Amino acid sequence: MSQDLAGDGQSNLWATALGQLEAAADRLGISENVRGTLRLPERELTVNFPVRMDDESVRMFTGYRVQHNITRGPAKGGVRYTPTLTLDDMRALAMWMTWKCAVVNIPFGGAKGGVAVDPQTLSDTELERLTRRYATEISILIGPNSDIPGPDVNTDARIMAWIMDTYSMHQGYSVPAVVTGKPLSIGGSEGRNEAPAKSVMMTLRRAAEDAEVTLRGAAVAVQGFGAVGGITAEYLFAQGARVVAVSDSSGGVYNADGLDIPALQTHKRETGAVAGFAGARELSAAETLEVACDVLIPAAGENQLTRANAARVQARLIIEAANGPTTPEADAILRARGVRIVPDILANAGGVAVSYFEWVQDLQSFFWDELEIDSKLERIMDRAYEDVLTMAHEHDVDLRLAAHMLAIQRIADSTAVRGIYP
Ligand code: NAD
Repeated sequence: MSQDLAGDGQSNLWATALGQLEAAADRLGISENVRGTLRLPERELTVNFPVRMDDESVRMFTGYRVQHNITRGPAKGGVRYTPTLTLDDMRALAMWMTWKCAVVNIPFGGAKGGVAVDPQTLSDTELERLTRRYATEISILIGPNSDIPGPDVNTDARIMAWIMDTYSMHQGYSVPAVVTGKPLSIGGSEGRNEAPAKSVMMTLRRAAEDAEVTLRGAAVAVQGFGAVGGITAEYLFAQGARVVAVSDSSGGVYNADGLDIPALQTHKRETGAVAGFAGARELSAAETLEVACDVLIPAAGENQLTRANAARVQARLIIEAANGPTTPEADAILRARGVRIVPDILANAGGVAVSYFEWVQDLQSFFWDELEIDSKLERIMDRAYEDVLTMAHEHDVDLRLAAHMLAIQRIADSTAVRGIYP
C-alpha cells in the first residue's frame, strides 16, 4: 500500500527508513563502514513477467523481492499485492524487517516482496497463475535457507500454499519451510494468523501500565479491520476495552459506548465492509484516527498519521499494528505532545516471531500446540519490550528510536564478528 492515503505528499517510506537508520546510528556512534552496509539492501530483484488471463489475453506484471540484510540469518519478509507498489517501498519494508527480527532477537534478516497488482481485479485462476509465475521468477532468491516469504497486505494462506507448491514442484520434493503463513495441513503453525494481533495486545498491556491507562473500559480506536486490525479488535472487546471506532477502506463506524465487535465481524463478512453497521454512527476512515479515545491502533497501512492530522489525534497511547503508519513529521508532533508510541518493529513483531516458529517446526517436521506457541511468543515479546525499554531509559530516547538502536546495535555486533568478506 504505497499510495499516500493521507494525501499530504509524505509517502516516501524509503526516505523515512533511511532517516531512522541515521538517527539511531548517530546516537550509537556506529562507524561509517558498518553504516554503509546497512544503508543499502544487499539484493534487489525486479521481475517483469507475463500472465495468461482467462480471456486468453496476456498481461505483463512487475514484481520485486528485496533482501536488505542477511548477517544474522536467512532473509524473512512478506509478499504483498497492491497496485501502487514501488521498489522504494520494498526497500523500506525490507529494512524494517531486518530491524524487527533483530528487536525480537530471532535469527533472520529482512526482506520484502510483492507484485504491483490489485488482486480484486483478478479471477481466482488468474491470481493463482500470477502467484505461481511470480514465485518462479523469484525462485533464484527464495529458499528455506536463504529467503522465506510470508503473507502481507492482500496475500493469505492460500497464496502461500501456491508459492510452497510451485517451489516444491521445481525441487521435486515438498519444501514446507520455504514460506510461512501456510495452511496447517501443509506445515503451517498454530497461532500464526493471530500472532501480530497477540503481540499488539502484549505490548499494549505493557505500555498501558507504563502510561497508567486501565485497559478494561479504556476507549480504543482501530484503523483497518483486516488480518491484524480485525483480530486485535476482537481481543480488545474480549478483554473489556471499549472499541469506540473501527474503520476499513469503506469508511468508519463509531459508538461511544463501544462497538459489538463479534457482531461487526458478522456484518463485515456478510456485506464486505464495516460501513452500514447498525447501532453505530458513520465516520470517514480519516476521522477514526481523530476520535476521542485513550488508545489508537493504526492497523491499515503506511503514512496514515501525518503532519496534517497528528495535532488532532486525541489518544494518549498509539500501538502501531501496521508497518510505517506514522510519518517522521507526525512522529515529532506526537512526541512533543507527550503521546506514547509503541513502534511497529516491536508492536507487530509477533507475526514474524511465530513465522520463525513455523519455519523451525517445518525444518524439524515436529509440530507444537497453540499453548506452546503462545508461551514462547509471550517470552519473546516480554524480553523484547524490556530490552527496548532499557535502551530508552539508558539513552533517554523514545521507544521508536530505542527499538531502532537495539536492532542496529545487534546487527552491527554481528557484522563486526563476521568481518567483511573477503
Ligand atoms: P489486510 O489487507 O488483511 O487488512 C488491511 C485493512 O485495512 C483492511 O480492512 C482494509 O480495508 C483497511 N484499509 C485500507 N485502507 C484503509 C484506510 N485508508 N483507512 C482505514 N482502513 C483502511 O492487511 P493486514 O495483513 O491486516 O496488514 C495490515 C498492516 O499490518 C500492514 O501494514 C501490514 O504490513 C502489517 N502487518 C501484517 C502482518 C501479517 O502477518 N498480516 C504482520 C505484521 C504487520
